[in-house]
Amino acid sequence: MCGIVGYIGHREAYPIIIKGLKRLEYRGYDSAGLILYDGIDLKLSKTKGKVSDLEEISKEISTNGTIGMGHTRWATHGVPNDVNSHPHMSNSGNLAIIHNGIIENYEPLKKELIKRGYVFHSDTDTEVLVNLIEEVQKKEKLKLGKAVQVALNQVVGAYAICVFDKQNPDEIIVARLGSPLAIGVGENEFFIASDASPFIEYTSNAIYLEDEEMAIVSLDKPLKIRKIKDDTLVDPYIQELQMNLEQIEKGGYDHFMLKEIYEQPNVIKDTYRGRLHANQGLIQMAGIEDNLEKFLNADRIIIVACGTSWHAGLVAEYIIEEFARISVEVEYASEFRYRNPIINKNDVVIAISQSGETADTLAAIKLAKEKGAFVFGVCNVVGSSISRETHAGAYTHAGPEIGVASTKAFTTQITVLTMIALRLAKAKGTLSNSDFHRYLQELELIPEKVAEALTTNDKAKEIATKFKDAPNCLYLGRGYNFPVALEGALKLKEISYIHAEGYPAAEMKHGPIALIDEHMPVVVIAPKQGHYDKVVSNIQEIKSRSGKIIAVVTKGDTQVRELADYVIEIPDTSDALSPLLTTIPLQLLSYHIAVLRGCNVDQPRNLAKSVTVE
Ligand code: GLU
Repeated sequence: MCGIVGYIGHREAYPIIIKGLKRLEYRGYDSAGLILYDGIDLKLSKTKGKVSDLEEISKEISTNGTIGMGHTRWATHGVPNDVNSHPHMSNSGNLAIIHNGIIENYEPLKKELIKRGYVFHSDTDTEVLVNLIEEVQKKEKLKLGKAVQVALNQVVGAYAICVFDKQNPDEIIVARLGSPLAIGVGENEFFIASDASPFIEYTSNAIYLEDEEMAIVSLDKPLKIRKIKDDTLVDPYIQELQMNLEQIEKGGYDHFMLKEIYEQPNVIKDTYRGRLHANQGLIQMAGIEDNLEKFLNADRIIIVACGTSWHAGLVAEYIIEEFARISVEVEYASEFRYRNPIINKNDVVIAISQSGETADTLAAIKLAKEKGAFVFGVCNVVGSSISRETHAGAYTHAGPEIGVASTKAFTTQITVLTMIALRLAKAKGTLSNSDFHRYLQELELIPEKVAEALTTNDKAKEIATKFKDAPNCLYLGRGYNFPVALEGALKLKEISYIHAEGYPAAEMKHGPIALIDEHMPVVVIAPKQGHYDKVVSNIQEIKSRSGKIIAVVTKGDTQVRELADYVIEIPDTSDALSPLLTTIPLQLLSYHIAVLRGCNVDQPRNLAKSVTVE
């Protein structure tokens, strides 16, 4: 993962880099580092820990130099310590590199370089790459850009890199394969970053490098983009950015996660705006309309995703099968890519990823394309790799999601997938007209019901105080709410480090019930619609074994209220749309438990927001 930032222009580079790294910290926060060029020499500062730690130690090196680059790391090779932090220097001390990704063949390359006298100080793959570049540069007497190109052609793996040469201090070489890299184009200045957030207040013009592309970013020469493999020139495509600064700041909330939970009514509306026309009985999504036949002729739909997106895929499986009667399989992208799956030309693959950069999902897409499937992407980040790799797609309009634990991305993914299911059902005639219209109207009302579900915040906080010290927690749900149980458990694990598991409620008897005693909190999702009576029986079974029951119920429920220790009420909606509401109190519960436990909610340990390594 990692976040990278670079600057070359007329402003002081240091504050741009520090601020940019803070915005990219969601990508990794094991260590941080930066390098500045003050017109004479390089100034390097790096440390284990957060960007705020780097800021503390780097103040004295802050120069008014106008070239620099910085890195926030999510360690893959070598523990998070000062030495393994980026930037890394070449043996001569002339070259500096920051890198996001993995050099898979670093070991043989390292051995070879050691034979040639190179010495390594860190355990990283990145240090191998910078020395390989130096070796190529020296041996073949090449300019830096060319040396980077030759070296990258020897490398297997993934990277977004910035390389700087003290001896030629007016350019930064950038390249990408598999990890994102954007170049912000300003007036006589360039910004380089893993996403556009570090430069959004300076320019709204950005170029997103494609895989296997590199560029020399310099004030003296026009920006040229080349293919790393064959050196062909590519026309730079300058994109106008839509995001604004307010969207990526906390807006008065204590944490990004809480802000993002509260944004859900608006972003769900943004996601269906212009697509859902309840009054006219219409759903219009360009990516679906243009490829309707492919979906209608599909033998099956295979959904590939990871983490929370995989849970959204599971909800979609229930909805698409129920509404459109198309068989759906949901796969972990990481398993799919390595298990020689059977994919036919008549399969439609839907890839779901918030960032659109998830390495395993990208690889699954490539595999599905090779096998002739039609691939449709559901991503949040516009212009991301997945949105470019897929044949067609539909964006969620959740806005930037900074909190590492996904919240609004999940509900907007479900919104998009529900609209797809409804559109396909309409085309196939698998839902009655009256049901179709009813669902459209209910979906339109979801944002205000989510807003109502958010009023459970105080209740969630009260329950959190009771269970904040629980070592374990079970989450149970049936049907559409089984994936919500999985997602609820994942949220708690991710941010509070409490061991939690989600199960289909009926599976409890086949094992997990053995865990239940008076210390075990069990969160049961029990809305009125769906398999209510069955869930009530499951609640009875937990109660008979003295488990502590926290139930998410429909407003006005009396039956579960009598059995449960705590209830959280959500508004009524149909069974199929209920995940959009039942998930809200579970997000709030995890949030408050994590806060009460003193955890770093937005940057939980060992995690990073977008998993761009496999
Ligand atoms: N492989 C590099 C390291 O461990 C970069 C890691 C990353 O991009 O997450 O330092």
